[in-house]
Amino acid sequence: MNFENTRQAYILKTDKELYRAFYLFRIISNKTLVSLGSKIVLTALKFRLPVSGIFKRTVFKQFCGGLKKEDSMLLINRLNEMNVKSYMHYAAECQNSESEMDMNLKKTIETICFSKNTNALPFTVFKATSLGYFSLFEKKSSGVDLNIKETAAWDRTIKRIQKCCQFATKHNVRMLIDAEESWVQNAIDEIAEDMMKEFNQEQTLIFTTLQLYRKDRLMYLQELIERAKQKNFRIGIKLVRGAYIDKENERSMDLGIPSIICDSKLATDRNFNAALDYILPRIEQCHLFLGSHNEASIIKVIEWMKNNRLPNNYSNIWFSQLYGMADHISFNLASKGYQVVKYVPYGPIKEVIPYLIRRAQENSSVSSQTPRELSLIKKELKRRKIKEVEL
Ligand SMILES: Cc1cc2nc3c(=O)[nH]c(=O)nc-3n(C[C@H](O)[C@H](O)[C@H](O)COP(=O)(O)OP(=O)(O)OC[C@H]3O[C@@H](n4cnc5c(N)ncnc54)[C@H](O)[C@@H]3O)c2cc1C
Repeated sequence: MNFENTRQAYILKTDKELYRAFYLFRIISNKTLVSLGSKIVLTALKFRLPVSGIFKRTVFKQFCGGLKKEDSMLLINRLNEMNVKSYMHYAAECQNSESEMDMNLKKTIETICFSKNTNALPFTVFKATSLGYFSLFEKKSSGVDLNIKETAAWDRTIKRIQKCCQFATKHNVRMLIDAEESWVQNAIDEIAEDMMKEFNQEQTLIFTTLQLYRKDRLMYLQELIERAKQKNFRIGIKLVRGAYIDKENERSMDLGIPSIICDSKLATDRNFNAALDYILPRIEQCHLFLGSHNEASIIKVIEWMKNNRLPNNYSNIWFSQLYGMADHISFNLASKGYQVVKYVPYGPIKEVIPYLIRRAQENSSVSSQTPRELSLIKKELKRRKIKEVEL
């Protein structure tokens, strides 16, 4: 697998778009700038200062499909022509009212409606805490009893989630349930398992997410597969390393409790590999959606497929990267026939800012793959013989 093929990687990018990506990655590789910038943006939004325009022209354009799902369609069709599928997400986070949660439900249902009409959108996704109060997920996760009012709100949350899963499976669109902070995850795990039990009888349409930066997830995976075998349902696993490392470590420091996160990047990588070693031999029962930009993880899966004489387009394995990142992986895999799907968020600028800040922070972390992105974009700009800009 040649991830160095930059012609293929950036086949859809104009010279101007490549420049923008280059300068953007260069800026967000600076941790201090990102940390300061995030605070300024959040404060500016709070005081309704006009920062949306700058965001729209820069970070938003790089990492989002558009303001509305219809705006993303041109992009999604172009990706599809390159054998790269997509899944769209109305990327609103931090809900504080029932009306916002109902709006998120409506947006998810609309996205499913949109997806059912095209083979370019085989998946949809939701964040459970966008459909219910975060505080209730936290209480449920720690086993705290809910009062009458809270129980009613929780029942409404479950109904919203059930509606999303039911509607998606009715229309044969696969549904991914995102993983979130560990202090709300027990409740999400329980719901995701219930949804798989209910809707993954004949086909694997509901996927739960496992974050392998957590020390306890391998054991959870083994138990989940065992329960599914006993209760006769299929499993879909979105396997990721995990996006909330700073928040997780800060919280355990504040509370003075041991961190749930692996002690080093190497330990996370070993944990991730161990999960792959467990899932792959059980791939008939447990479908894999590999959400990763890590080349070694992807090569590990490809080699396993090859050794087991599976075709590149084997239906139970999907590779997924975020829109605006790791195009060298997505486009090179897709050109060899592997099943690839890009996560394409959309929504009003103000709503997607928490997502965009997370992307910027991820790209500025020490262990990020930004230097790799930068060197590949630079290589492609050189290949296109663009000399007038100083790289
Ligand atoms: C399609 C897709 C869907 C995703 N969905 C989710 C989701 O639902 N929930 C979620 O939480 N994340 C999600 N992510 C983000 C993901 O968890 C990672 O943050 C991101 O992809 C970077 O990991 P990587 O596998 O690409 O590779 P790498 O760049 O090799 O790994 C970076 C990751 O390693 C871990 N890490 C880094 N330093 C350390 C350290 N010192 N100690 C321990 N571990 C460390 C962290 O998890 C970090 O994000 C998703 C990613 C993709 C591509």
